[in-house]
Amino acid sequence: MTCIVLAVLVLIMPSFTARVILAGLLLAIATWSILASAGSKTATASSDDSDQSHAPENLPVNSLLEATLSGMREGLLVVNKDMRVVASNPAARKLFNPSVPALKTQRLTELTRNPAIYSAFLDGLKGIERSGVKVETHGPERQIFDLRVVPIGSVNGNGAEGALGVFFDITRTERLEHVRQEFLSNVSHELRTPLTAIIAFVETLENGALEDQESCQRFLSIIRKNASRMHSLIDDILELTAIEGGNVQLRAEPVDLHALVQDVCSSLAAKASAQNVTLKNNVAGSVMVHADARRLEQMLTNLIDNGIKFSRDNGMVVVSHEDGTRDKIQVQDNGDGIPSQHLERLFERFYRVDRARSRDIGGTGLGLAIVKHLALLHGGEVTVTSELGKGSTFTIHLPK
Ligand code: ADP
Repeated sequence: MTCIVLAVLVLIMPSFTARVILAGLLLAIATWSILASAGSKTATASSDDSDQSHAPENLPVNSLLEATLSGMREGLLVVNKDMRVVASNPAARKLFNPSVPALKTQRLTELTRNPAIYSAFLDGLKGIERSGVKVETHGPERQIFDLRVVPIGSVNGNGAEGALGVFFDITRTERLEHVRQEFLSNVSHELRTPLTAIIAFVETLENGALEDQESCQRFLSIIRKNASRMHSLIDDILELTAIEGGNVQLRAEPVDLHALVQDVCSSLAAKASAQNVTLKNNVAGSVMVHADARRLEQMLTNLIDNGIKFSRDNGMVVVSHEDGTRDKIQVQDNGDGIPSQHLERLFERFYRVDRARSRDIGGTGLGLAIVKHLALLHGGEVTVTSELGKGSTFTIHLPK
């Protein structure tokens, strides 16, 4: 066990000098312990170590080591020359076979058939240090590890007496990286579409369409529409990035909900009447909610705006409030509704039911993601129910 801790320290220690000293100490102890365990045929690395010395604080060293290794999130596995496991910690057991109480004397091949792990440990036994080996597990939950293997008892890079592997869990980092890449590729794609249209119409104008007054007007209006789409997209991306990055500070205070809804309805009145949609504020005059007024206004603007965009002719968008353990603010429309299979993913960035329609009406695909993150920032959430052909209801739940 002492070996393992020292090896981990060697792996983790930032200072080169400290690593060299620790590595020397490790080599001496590792060689001694592996030779001793070879003599006794069955090798173990658990609490039956004969080292009963005490730490300066009068705590038994074994207990300290056990606690350290048990508490580590990184999986640790030591194999001997014959590729048999001679030591492991609970994190490693969980990684390979959670039902086995201790990994001891099994062959590495009995634990895993993963060729990347096997070849890294094999190199370790040849005296070669390996790092950055990516290992994936495909159990009930997919996990990704960065495996680092160091030889134990190797002199000048020659064959080793054993090898120690540390499995760093990089599942979260990998997932975030995936999300980041997906986001970047979505943003590039979303920006490229209006940009391509702008370039195409400018080229058409340059190639003679300028002479034709009517076409000229039409092309310019298409260029303007695409340019403002790019503008809204960049605004929404910056907004969402700021909220997700924790750079938006809320100033929650008592807010007069009726007055706030009235303001939002007034600012969207022209758009609503252009689409023949009626906006109705059903919130009672006395209702106060606890929220950041500007951010709540932003959430309601996005939801009511969607209600208008996705409504039918002569449609109606109604805002109401329901009291309870939390305040519920509902935005209900009688539009086309949303097919149930889309509801689960509706609040994801760039998720749209009908991509072409959303683009056509100037949508960025980020409005609901912004609402979701702002609601979460308030300690609340946003939910949706919808019935095809009847309409949708979006509800913001706010803690009191
Ligand atoms: P967009 O800019 O496309 O409106 P949102 O994030 O606001 O982006 O909405 C994502 C998608 O959810 C929309 O493209 C649309 O398909 C669907 N949606 C949102 N609100 C409604 C609604 N009230 N009725 C029907 N569909 C809606």
